[in-house]
Amino acid sequence: MGQQAALPKELLITGGKIYDPATGKSRREDLGVKDGRLVDPASLRPEKAQVLDATGCVVTHGFIDIHAHFREPGREDKETLVTGSQAALAGGFTRVCVMPNTDPPIDSPEGVRATLERAEGLPVRVQVIGAITKGQRGEELAELREMRAAGAVAFSDDGQPIRDGQLLKRALQYTKDLGVPVINHAEDVHLRADGVMNESALSTRLGLPGNPVEAEGAMIYRDLLLAQDTGGRVHIPHISTALGVAQVRAFKGLGLAVTAEATPHHLGLTEELMRGFNTQAKVAPPLRTEENRQAVVAGLLDGTIDCIATDHAPHTVEEKEQDMLRAPFGMIGLESAFGLVHTTLRAAGMDIEGIINLLTAGPAAVMGFDLTPLKPGSPAELVVLRPDEEWTFTREDIYSRSRNSPMLGMTFTGRVVATLTPNGWFIQS
Ligand SMILES: [Zn+2]
Repeated sequence: MGQQAALPKELLITGGKIYDPATGKSRREDLGVKDGRLVDPASLRPEKAQVLDATGCVVTHGFIDIHAHFREPGREDKETLVTGSQAALAGGFTRVCVMPNTDPPIDSPEGVRATLERAEGLPVRVQVIGAITKGQRGEELAELREMRAAGAVAFSDDGQPIRDGQLLKRALQYTKDLGVPVINHAEDVHLRADGVMNESALSTRLGLPGNPVEAEGAMIYRDLLLAQDTGGRVHIPHISTALGVAQVRAFKGLGLAVTAEATPHHLGLTEELMRGFNTQAKVAPPLRTEENRQAVVAGLLDGTIDCIATDHAPHTVEEKEQDMLRAPFGMIGLESAFGLVHTTLRAAGMDIEGIINLLTAGPAAVMGFDLTPLKPGSPAELVVLRPDEEWTFTREDIYSRSRNSPMLGMTFTGRVVATLTPNGWFIQS
């Protein structure tokens, strides 16, 4: 349970270890915040400044999520830009890139501008990923150059894979000089067919249609070949299979400038959650076997996978209460992201700095964003983390309009204590 409010005019963060992912350096000192900017703590007025005791905490740059679904316009019953950004703030995120599969999809410069205007003044900075094709129908390229000029930071038909290889090839050729990645939902729809979970011994036992690892592997391989052929920038989203990780590793080894992301759920959870026909664990691509999960973790440890992205996908209670075949794919992920990621990657031997990099410098590099250094004059975009705190994820921790998470009731190590941006702050109470 926490609170969200306006950032105090003057704030002193004391006693914490500061890790700056922009420089890769740690230091022990107090941080001052005044009027939304970092300042020398000596310039604060002691009688006016609020104090945040960060003893036992790591203070770092706010997290950046490059893959979230905020559902506005069209499905404001699931999420809005306002509620989505509140969920982000509670999860330690200060910047979020939203996917364009809204209703209507964001497939024009006007659509990009409209979302950016609605997002002004929100607690976190919202940036827009534009659709690759008109209406996300996979038939005709959208106005990519014009959307980029209007502020789009990447292109994706996420949710809908681009089936036509020739079309994706043209998208890569057109965007090559724009300096932004093309993100194709990596599933071959014909191989995926009507699969609702990972194809495995368990899917056979449960009698549920399976989605094989080859559905992801085939699409990733095609996209890597097209990136190699065109020189365009491909970013592989939500990688879930050992096959996919091996392919990205091999093409990086050949010198291809490809990047990839993993979600907290694919690095931390497995298909075992589908026992008991739990629709909250139904997600695309599906949760896989322990062997695949370990391959995703290994890909994060050796740098094959560049960053973590949540694929936060809100759905209503009514939709998720349908049976396994009908319930929609997806789970929310912003509020639980750090807990699940830190618990899993710490157990795998990664230090806190490495974990923070995957949530800050990693996604910034994928998108070509500058990371503001943690020094006086920079805007306050901070998260305060307590790595040793054990906590149980409950409904009280959710700020999203939806609560479709299979992680409710799970215990994590590592918690977000506070998040600060010039437009808001979240504090754990
Ligand atoms: Zn996707």
